[in-house]
Amino acid sequence: MPMKSINPATGQLVATFDELSDSDVEARLQAAADAFQRWRHGDSTERSRCLVKLAELLEAEKDALATMMTEEMGKTRKSAGAEALKCALACRYFAEHGAAFLADERIETESDSFIRYLPLGTILAVMPWNFPFWQLIRCLAPAVMAGNTVILKHASNVPRCALALEELALRAGLPKGVFQSLLIGSSKVARIIHDPRVAAVTLTGSEAAGASVAEAAGRALKKCVLELGGNDPFIVLPSADLEAAVKTGIQARIMNNGQSCICAKRFIVHKDVYKPFVDRFVAGLEALVVGDPMDDATELGPIATADGVETLERQVRDSVAAGAKLLTGGSRLEGAGNFFAATALASVPRNAPAYSEEVFGPVAVLFEVSDLDEAIHLANDTPFGLASSVWTNDAGEQERLENEIEAGQTFVNAMSASDPRLPFGGIKASGFGRELGYIGAREFTNMKTIVAVRRDRAEKAA
Ligand code: NAP
Repeated sequence: MPMKSINPATGQLVATFDELSDSDVEARLQAAADAFQRWRHGDSTERSRCLVKLAELLEAEKDALATMMTEEMGKTRKSAGAEALKCALACRYFAEHGAAFLADERIETESDSFIRYLPLGTILAVMPWNFPFWQLIRCLAPAVMAGNTVILKHASNVPRCALALEELALRAGLPKGVFQSLLIGSSKVARIIHDPRVAAVTLTGSEAAGASVAEAAGRALKKCVLELGGNDPFIVLPSADLEAAVKTGIQARIMNNGQSCICAKRFIVHKDVYKPFVDRFVAGLEALVVGDPMDDATELGPIATADGVETLERQVRDSVAAGAKLLTGGSRLEGAGNFFAATALASVPRNAPAYSEEVFGPVAVLFEVSDLDEAIHLANDTPFGLASSVWTNDAGEQERLENEIEAGQTFVNAMSASDPRLPFGGIKASGFGRELGYIGAREFTNMKTIVAVRRDRAEKAA
């Protein structure tokens, strides 16, 4: 089936691409395996040099790359430019620190003992469209720094981004085969996981995709990292700076047009500040500039796909039918493109889709709670456990929230965000494994224990 690049702001078809044939896929798997045999023995200086060059290209070509991302998946051009620069930052970070993160780690025993971080081989990266460059780079940079080769199966609606990433990597000097994009549908993924030339798989995406990839990886007994969806809480307690909480809360809900795994999705607000928070929050949503994502003034652009808008419509409609109160928005916007109004729902019952499903768009769900215990209980009453943002200036409350929120990360008086220096990942249905930071740098390595009785040591001891 041809892959289509459709502009979500206009609905126009921009380009189509043929899927790779089975023999093309075969050739690329072999190229990755061959490249691994050379790359694994290369030194870290060469790997760093390629990542620094990749960073330079991302910086120099930021504007053109941003335009392409915006045309293909609808994020605002401003945020697409920021994404290109963040990718450059991650490349530089792993270029500079990768060798130290992967250096031998000595452990005191009677022998010469240490952990050596060796590459695993070819890593299959199955990636989503929502951060079409960042999601790949945050896996690619540490993986190639460790001496692996990477094959990308990108989301089917971002083929131009997939091809641009491969071209940039080649121009940065990564040898042929070290990083390749496969334009293929998801039905081919399980077979590739089973291929003996593939050592491990990482998927960023939905729970359903994660479960299929984990199943295939389990059957093939291969390492698997999953970065899945979230239904992140944003808790506001009476001692919080309310103005900052409202302003950040709106940004945290609408960033990337509401389509980030770590968007704040459930706003859990103490009864003492609920009314002023909600009044200002709803007014802020209604004041957003919605429209052309190419325009620098735009704050909220379109949803990436027509299917995405239909899912939002269903989630809001069924939640209202279950008893939720619509405070603002609630429907798609008239005209071309996949635009959905900034929406707020309150009094959402437990059986409503907006209570338990990930809502991937600009729809905020607001809850009023009586105390900290109720806030924590509600925050954890979800299958997901990705990130969380909590707003309080009470040290005791901060400590309890840091310890008791079930999530891979908790941000106190700040918006959830990824950072190349900090490990990122989830628990529960949000997945397992970590990307970024020194822990992410080691995810796709064989953490090999080496114990050696050396003759020179024995002689010295004698
Ligand atoms: P998706 O539909 O799950 O797709 C993600 C990737 O998986 C795509 O490449 C897709 O290919 C592939 N895929 C889908 N079904 C598959 C299957 N059964 N077997 C193998 N591969 C399969 O997700 P999305 O709509 O692109 O992205 C949004 C989701 O990603 C949200 O849930 C979001 O929260 C999550 N996300 C998580 C993180 C994180 O770090 N935790 C970051 C970003 C996004 P096709 O496009 O060809 O179907």
